[in-house]
Amino acid sequence: MSTKEEYLNMLREARKQLPSVVASGERFMPPKPVIVIEGKQTHIVNFKEITNVLNRDPKLLARYLSKELGSPYFLTEDAKKLILSRRIDPRQVENRIDRFIGTYVVCPHCGRPDTIIVKVKKTWILRCLACGAETPIPKI
Ligand SMILES: [Zn+2]
Repeated sequence: MSTKEEYLNMLREARKQLPSVVASGERFMPPKPVIVIEGKQTHIVNFKEITNVLNRDPKLLARYLSKELGSPYFLTEDAKKLILSRRIDPRQVENRIDRFIGTYVVCPHCGRPDTIIVKVKKTWILRCLACGAETPIPKI
């Protein structure tokens, strides 16, 4: 077998091992939170990057995490970094971010993340720009 054939075979094998959703580019992959414990604080170093990809106001996710994790917080300049003023297990932080995405970002009807939050009177609604579904969500 020539080197070129070997190379092509290798590519084919690698592609087979990819789950089909990844291969088609359909899966929504928000950045993994980078969490650093500093003294008595928990820092989410790439907070801005996460909220940019989720297309959500950093203050909204900050408030959610603060409430869920029972910790006061502050955002650094430009909301680059979120600082929770308590030591929190990074797995708990990741878990709450996943939950936030499940409730406040991904449309429960079509599973796409192309959504916006609209406030109608006192109700919060997750409006999907892909399928048009409107889902009431809990206020934060
Ligand atoms: Zn949808």
